[in-house]
Amino acid sequence: MNKGAGRRFGWLRGQRKRSIEEVILMLLCALTIPSILPFGVYRLVQRQWMSAAVDMALVLAMLAVIVHVWRTGRHRVAGFCVTLFYSAGLLATVYLRGTSLIYWVYPTMIACYFVLRPRVAVAINSVTLVALVAILVSQMAVLNLLTIVVTIGLVNLFAYIFAYRTGEQNKALHTEVELDFLTGIGNRRALDRRLAEHADERRPHLPACLLLLDLDHFKQVNDTHGHAAGDQALRRLAEVMRLHTRSSDRLFRYGGEEFAVIANGAELNAASRLAENLRAAVAGATLIDGHALTVSIGVAFMDKRGTPAGWLKQADTMLYAAKQGGRNTVRVAAAGPASDYAHRA
Ligand code: GH3
Ligand code: MG
Ligand code: MG
Repeated sequence: MNKGAGRRFGWLRGQRKRSIEEVILMLLCALTIPSILPFGVYRLVQRQWMSAAVDMALVLAMLAVIVHVWRTGRHRVAGFCVTLFYSAGLLATVYLRGTSLIYWVYPTMIACYFVLRPRVAVAINSVTLVALVAILVSQMAVLNLLTIVVTIGLVNLFAYIFAYRTGEQNKALHTEVELDFLTGIGNRRALDRRLAEHADERRPHLPACLLLLDLDHFKQVNDTHGHAAGDQALRRLAEVMRLHTRSSDRLFRYGGEEFAVIANGAELNAASRLAENLRAAVAGATLIDGHALTVSIGVAFMDKRGTPAGWLKQADTMLYAAKQGGRNTVRVAAAGPASDYAHRA
């Protein structure tokens, strides 16, 4: 369940867009506060200091997580910590207040599946269950304890199956939606997502370059050999691209007879060599029998100060220059922020 569909939230104009995982985690914490705070206050009034301390510590921990995720956007470790707080708070409460608090186990354990991968959630809940049995074994009749263990086990089993199935469906849907049906490589949507991810990455990351490829005089192929032969040439071009790129490079069909490569880990020099290899490989390959086909390629560095639109514009300008330069050519943008370049271009 934690694997979101990549949807993003931008609540305020100009504010960084938030992932669905961040929003779920903050909502979960925000819901926990009104669920626990009244009990904490009640226990303070009743002078049950230990129980009140546990409740208030949980409320403060949830507040801290909300502030942390809101400010940094980092939700993975925070999500893990939240489930640990939940489990520890739950065990402390049952230990202090006894079996009447056992009903809190169910929503607490289900919540784990909303913020963690199913396997991690089931591991944390299993440890919690063992600790719970150790606490309750001296306080309950065996049959009652067994009922609790079996129902908790079933709730976890159903939540695990649901979370796992949803995750798999999401993965399949993602793959399907982002694949180009003709060539089997990524489509325009996949390219846009990857570019946006690169722009959003906060941690220091590897350099990357964007290559835009466009088949030269492709219209003639359709006109001379027919649309089906044109399609076959596009499929073969994707094959050639696969053969001449590294597994870390990402391939996309940008539209019609235009393709893109994100060369991960490549500075401009390495990306220009890759572009030149691709150009030569296409010129040497037989994309369509009896018809020589070539590509023109524009290369841009995905500078962190730039934007996806800026990188695309820069690579597209270079592609245009390659076409103007006689086709079957590579043109590489000068290093520098893509945003600056967009102004100059
Ligand atoms: P240039 O060198 O300037 O790029 O010339 P070009 O002929 O390649 O460019 P133009 O934009 O004039 O024509 C692109 C052609 O690509 C027109 C269109 O029929 C063809 N095309 C676009 N998508 C497909 C497709 O999915 N299958 C086939 N067979 N042809 C396509
Ligand atoms: Mg073309
Ligand atoms: Mg074109």
